[in-house]
Amino acid sequence: MTRNDDTTSSLDAFAQNKLAQLEARNQRRRLVESSRAGAMSMHVDGGPELISFTDNDYLGLSTHPDVIAAARDAATEFGAGAGASRLVTGNHPLYSKLEQTIARIKGTEDAVVYGSGYLANVGIIPTIIGQNDLIIADELIHTSIHGGVQLSKATVRFCRHNDVAHVRDILETERANFGRALIVVDGVYSMDGDIAPLKELGELAKAFDAWLMNDDAHALGTIGDGRGSLHATGAHGLVPLQMGTLSKAAGAYGGYLAASRAVCDLMRTRSRSFIYTTGLPPAAVGAALKALELTEADAELVARPTKLAQHFANELGLAKPVTPIVPIVIGSETDALKASSDLADLGFKVIAFRPPTVPEGTSRLRFCFSASHRDHDVERLIAACKKLGLGNMS
Ligand SMILES: *Cc1c(COP(=O)(O)O)cnc(C)c1O
Repeated sequence: MTRNDDTTSSLDAFAQNKLAQLEARNQRRRLVESSRAGAMSMHVDGGPELISFTDNDYLGLSTHPDVIAAARDAATEFGAGAGASRLVTGNHPLYSKLEQTIARIKGTEDAVVYGSGYLANVGIIPTIIGQNDLIIADELIHTSIHGGVQLSKATVRFCRHNDVAHVRDILETERANFGRALIVVDGVYSMDGDIAPLKELGELAKAFDAWLMNDDAHALGTIGDGRGSLHATGAHGLVPLQMGTLSKAAGAYGGYLAASRAVCDLMRTRSRSFIYTTGLPPAAVGAALKALELTEADAELVARPTKLAQHFANELGLAKPVTPIVPIVIGSETDALKASSDLADLGFKVIAFRPPTVPEGTSRLRFCFSASHRDHDVERLIAACKKLGLGNMS
């Protein structure tokens, strides 16, 4: 056996062991082939049709004919790929239109588009926060924010979820020991569907000279008339860093930061995940642009997912949701997987979310409602959940 084979086999042994441990805890994940047949209809591994209540495609725009046509037109005009980083030759003309549209929707001077929301989070934070600085992060922030926080090398303190008093305590005891300070939260929490108290956090941030950043991945196109969590909470002027994605309600792909011109220019100049990566394919930019135009023009479209979620929750005796996301916490991984597969048997795709995506012991079904769900899809889902004893029917 050559040296090289030894290395390979120890690597494989490591991977196999790790997978076996995860399997034993029901935490192993597997890709299944999902063919999205129409707006919310899909086939998993070639099986029968399922109606998906799991997509983040809140407005059904990923399959909207105008959005698809815009993607096709962009590819025809500018090519399949960007060819290089945006700072080299990858900055095709659709980018500036998209950035202007995002800035208009968000009410900021400027916006900067990244390759994805994940890339935005790992790029934005280390560009403005460093070793001698403080980050206060909600304990339930998205994993991609953790990535940015780690790269910044700052001191990080986690606050209890949506607990403004806890943030105040941390600021009072620790703020003076650091240079710059960032408070970072999700605008809408993807696993719970609740909204961050941005106004209170923003006022606190101001008082302590800290900067507030929201991750609006699940808020753009769904709340605040489609403009996101700042508009939904009335936190105008209090959130200087509004980050988000074009892959959820906007139905395409890409991430963004909406902020002042100076901050956006700094990101274009210094943010590594902006500079050292290829620009988005023109089709993704064209699609996102068209999707945002449709969103801006149609208030009813934007309101529908949350309305459906509220109807569903009401029928099942659950707390009234304020976003299109409704969790039903089951508890163990095994029970959550079972509930998900029972729903699949009844014709619905609803993913079971398990640790580490959610805290231990809170494995859950998470239902996402979309404008493209038909009323009778939702009625059938309600009946299925009742049949399985899901919800709070007592
Ligand atoms: C999906 C998501 C992201 C990542 O966005 P992508 O564009 O899919 O990389 C970031 N933050 C939150 C809260 C998300 O839900």
